[in-house]
Amino acid sequence: MPEAFIYTSSPGRIVFGSGISVKVAEEVERLGCARALILSTPFQKNDAEALAKDLGEMAAGTFTEAAMHTPVAVTEAALKIYNETKADCVVALGGGSTIGLGKAIAWRNEAPQVVIATTYAGSEVTDILGQTEKGQKTTVRDPKIRPETVIYDADLTLGLPVAMSVASGLNAMAHAVEALYAPDANPVTSLMAVEGLRALKSALPRIVEAPDDRDARADALYGSWLCGTVLGAVAMSLHHKLCHTLGGGFDMPHAETHAILLPHTAAYNAAAASAELARATELFGGDLGGGLYDFARSIGAPLALADYGLKESDLARAADMAVQSPYKNPREITRDGILALLRRAHAGQRPITT
Ligand code: NAD
Repeated sequence: MPEAFIYTSSPGRIVFGSGISVKVAEEVERLGCARALILSTPFQKNDAEALAKDLGEMAAGTFTEAAMHTPVAVTEAALKIYNETKADCVVALGGGSTIGLGKAIAWRNEAPQVVIATTYAGSEVTDILGQTEKGQKTTVRDPKIRPETVIYDADLTLGLPVAMSVASGLNAMAHAVEALYAPDANPVTSLMAVEGLRALKSALPRIVEAPDDRDARADALYGSWLCGTVLGAVAMSLHHKLCHTLGGGFDMPHAETHAILLPHTAAYNAAAASAELARATELFGGDLGGGLYDFARSIGAPLALADYGLKESDLARAADMAVQSPYKNPREITRDGILALLRRAHAGQRPITT
């Protein structure tokens, strides 16, 4: 019998299925729109242009300069094109970087958004926007940031490189682990979190084995939807705080930093949140931090922060930054505790549950 809880469901429409992205035009129409600006990164430019061709007159144009951490200057350039082409909605094709651009546009002009998500990061189902200007990353939450429609088509993820798939999948799993011990966790988000972890734990090794395995890709997208949904529904703690610190303060790459830190942050909180984490702990063989580390290693995930340019001499400053502003976490955040965690993650050592 659960104790008292509050659950607010997300209003987003989810359209899931292999080959389903041919329905983009229907989804644009369904939002009452007729001229979509298609967004992507330079890397997915060809896909964005092919989509624009398929949409014909329904494509107002393409903007293919989306970049990591949503620089405000890029958003302003995209808004200019949005206005010049008389677009009335955006279609974001890609991962968190492209989705972030769509959200940044919508936050400014309330453009309806259709997202075709092609990584596992989960941004498409949250009302969170992180943007950067003059080296500063700020985060806003607003209902108008959450995309109206999300399309998950496993066919579009077959080409997501294995290394990116692994890191992105672990990024998603981190949302689920933190959702389980969130101060505002509830029975529905916890069910979603455990199912998301289960789906990704099953899918990622199969993707490593055969990147074009459609079923594995569909399972991973299903898991990432669940994990993203809980990211958008409850508060995150130590893990996301540390990743934000390392991303913003030390320019560490997003998905890889999540992947490396997850076993360590899970180990840090394992004893303090043992009841909340019980189902996840069982899934990973009775020791969540160690089990996650072994899992990450078995699928070739990045393990050491040192491999991504973080210097040993940066660790003390990172620990100082991470303890600056207080936030809720199952276990007390101490500078020494965080520094010890960072040292092991820096060296790529297996975490010790303390
Ligand atoms: P990304 O969007 O930066 O993508 C990385 C690269 O992979 C890009 O070049 C992209 O074009 C390419 N790519 C994406 N999908 C592909 C596919 N299927 N096939 C081939 N190439 C593909 O990576 P990401 O990890 O999804 O997003 C990271 C960004 O998202 C960060 O800025 C992070 O802060 C943000 N984010 C935000 C939230 C939120 O809720 N606001 C949640 C998660 C991540």
